[in-house]
Amino acid sequence: MTAPLFNRLALIGVGLIGSSIARAARAQGVVRSIAATARSAATRRRVAELGLADQVAETNAAAVEGADLVIVCIPVGACAEVAREIGPHLMAGATVSDVGSVKGSVVRDMAPHLPAGVHFVPAHPVAGTEYSGPDAGFAELFVNRWCILTPPADADLQAVDRLKAFWRALGANVETMAPQHHDLVLAVTSHLPHLIAYTIVGTADELAQVTRQEVLQFSAGGFRDFTRIAASDPTMWRDVFLANKDAVLEMLGRFNEDVSALTRAIRRGDGEALFNHFTRTRAIRKGIVAIGQDSPSPDFGRPHPDLPHEPLPRPYAGEGE
Ligand code: NAP
Repeated sequence: MTAPLFNRLALIGVGLIGSSIARAARAQGVVRSIAATARSAATRRRVAELGLADQVAETNAAAVEGADLVIVCIPVGACAEVAREIGPHLMAGATVSDVGSVKGSVVRDMAPHLPAGVHFVPAHPVAGTEYSGPDAGFAELFVNRWCILTPPADADLQAVDRLKAFWRALGANVETMAPQHHDLVLAVTSHLPHLIAYTIVGTADELAQVTRQEVLQFSAGGFRDFTRIAASDPTMWRDVFLANKDAVLEMLGRFNEDVSALTRAIRRGDGEALFNHFTRTRAIRKGIVAIGQDSPSPDFGRPHPDLPHEPLPRPYAGEGE
């Protein structure tokens, strides 16, 4: 438990990320109270049923009243509209942050609507699963994951430090960087892998000479891990690719060059080129496991069994799996 860092946390959007923040902030005692809201009445009702917040507000404007920390946890494409709505209702001295997977567009879209005297410190917790909604969150989601803050150059240092302390209390490691640099790094580490997964699962699905039954039956051959990533929320990922267009196109260009090089090696029977390439990539995987960013156990990408966590509620598992 940590002494409360903030008096009142307002969460706009209570899906996987928002509900995980609510659960973790409660568990760690880092805020005195939580107000939350979501776009639909159904989600607001579910948030109340789950007891994720002390107050479930009907509107975004009502949720931020009296909050000294506001975290916007919605798809990045909706951030401009929400910032416009909450701007006039923010408390002087409040810190406003977000969790969006793209930072340049969030800064561009939100900053103009936030009044002077409010500290805007965008953030991106690099943690997630393929599930969505308030039932999908869990308090340990951020443990040993990175949270990247992209404060503007003239940001109030005390506000930045307080938000860093908040994320550290939730178990995250904190890094700061410029929004454009964040977007380039995440384009290669997250956005491109998702695009590849979306592509390959679609390609397999369209192969007429391979039946859907065979694709499912023999999925352990590598395809299965792609299907997990390709099950991620369509709205969130549509917004990510639209918002991070330039960096994704840049990385996609490089990726296509590398695919061409491997294609050539296969066509020419150049086993040495293939072997050298695969040896290099295997070392990268070993490095990721060595720094604790994934487990060597075969539950690829799932929450680590060696980390303390409650059983992950998977309300949608029955529908999708
Ligand atoms: P999610 O589970 O789908 O939840 C999204 C929440 O935002 C819901 O409460 C939804 O309300 C609300 N919302 C959606 N559209 C809205 C709008 N136009 N105005 C107001 N509220 C709206 O999404 P998530 O996975 O938590 O992702 C939220 C943000 O976190 C995204 O920006 C994403 O890029 C970022 N992020 C996601 C992950 C991940 O792995 N999922 C990881 C890191 C960062 P309703 O339920 O009522 O529609």
